[in-house]
Amino acid sequence: MSIEMEVDEPQVAATSTRLAPIEEVKSSARQSKRIAAHSHVKGLGLDQDTKEALPKAAGFVGQQDARTAAAVVVDMIRGKSMAGRAVLLAGPPGTGKTAIALAMAQELGDSVPFVPIVASEVYSAEVKKTEILMRNFRRAIGLRVKEKKDVYEGEVTELTPVETTSTQLTGIGKTISHVVVSMKTAKGSKQLKLDPSIYDSILKQRIEVGDVIYIEANSGAVKRVGRCDVYASEFDLEADEYVPMPKGEVRKSKDVVQDVTLHDLDIANARPQGRQGDVSSIVSQLMAPKKTEVTDRLRAEINKVVNEYIDSGVAELMPGVLFIDEVHMLDVECFTYLHRALESPISPIVVFATNRGVSAVRGLDTKSPHGIPTEMLDRLLIIITMKYTPDEMRSILALRAEAENVKMEPDALEAMTRVASERSLRYSLQIIAPAKLSAQCSGRETINAADIARCVDLFMDRTVSTKKALEKQAKH
Ligand code: ATP
Repeated sequence: MSIEMEVDEPQVAATSTRLAPIEEVKSSARQSKRIAAHSHVKGLGLDQDTKEALPKAAGFVGQQDARTAAAVVVDMIRGKSMAGRAVLLAGPPGTGKTAIALAMAQELGDSVPFVPIVASEVYSAEVKKTEILMRNFRRAIGLRVKEKKDVYEGEVTELTPVETTSTQLTGIGKTISHVVVSMKTAKGSKQLKLDPSIYDSILKQRIEVGDVIYIEANSGAVKRVGRCDVYASEFDLEADEYVPMPKGEVRKSKDVVQDVTLHDLDIANARPQGRQGDVSSIVSQLMAPKKTEVTDRLRAEINKVVNEYIDSGVAELMPGVLFIDEVHMLDVECFTYLHRALESPISPIVVFATNRGVSAVRGLDTKSPHGIPTEMLDRLLIIITMKYTPDEMRSILALRAEAENVKMEPDALEAMTRVASERSLRYSLQIIAPAKLSAQCSGRETINAADIARCVDLFMDRTVSTKKALEKQAKH
């Protein structure tokens, strides 16, 4: 029994759970470091009436046709008419393919996962290609679990250490026999005595006297919500002196919304939890089994439970975007696998990207547009991205400088725009950070054209570096 309350509410007193609280589920959606380069992008930048891309909006500049096409795809996703299909963004390097894919995920919702990978990542000595693809598929499928929970909210007035108890708690150097919480009600403060089964939760969250916490009536999960400067001390805290909870006074219904990905659930179930018991929380049911590896069987079990929750309306699937760059690096086996996976009712939106024209399909003796087998090409909605004009590059560079908190003199922006046109946008974006350091070394906060020139001397772009390497090779 997790919460022992001297109350006249049998449903509360009868609640018994030891579970991994919902708050402990680590959500990994949109945490990738790879998207830091796109932190200025906040969406596709659409006109809300016409749904056409605006010339400059939401951190985007230009590439209007591609962004408008991406918006149509987003509408198709919302209308659930993308099943079995995928998207291909084709265009030269640095033309915003990744940024557009990220913006599609952003348009689908704040917590919708965006998972960018490079196709070559599927090749590993330890793990099968299809397993890596499956993992990333499941990373890109979000699940929003909504539970109504009865909670008791109150302030901790006493954590009483005693010497004699069966539960020796590690890490705190003392043993706790009981936890007393003062609950604030309309009629004044009342107290709850909690039973030892939730001590570990109290300890894990480092809850102390003076903290405001709430306790879920149906699961016993404890959450710290703040801290009180003043806490009640006038109560007689002798055992058995606790005042019964007045019915309905401090109890409230709380909506618990938890966003996780199917991969989060796989991992949480694969790791031994060290917990067992009567599990009543929805996510915790998925968390509870003691498993040690993610097997197909485990994933099937999770899918089954997830589907039940979706059918009963407590969970909502949020298919995200799996972005696979350099798609020509995938081999025919991967494409066959993806072909099948796209058919699944639980599938993310797959967005491929390439800057290749006709090239060899890995694992086949044939060539094909973008190195993609024809069966897959037939399923693709292809969006083309175009090279930027100098004006567009200038605006993108200014946006990135702002996002990186870098101030530039007008002549520095012009120099960077020239570098972007002559070399590449990506190279020019790369030298923003070293140029800032160069300015700081000269005691300035604002970058000038000399900083840019210095960085161009110091750092080679891809073309120059390749040329130098080839020259060196020829000499030997
Ligand atoms: P690659 O083919 O090399 O993977 P890419 O086509 O995916 O390149 P991105 O990585 O999306 O290009 O773009 C390079 C940088 O320029 C990123 O920081 C991106 O956010 C920014 N960028 C690209 N296009 C735009 C745009 N139209 N508006 C604003 N920022 C952009």
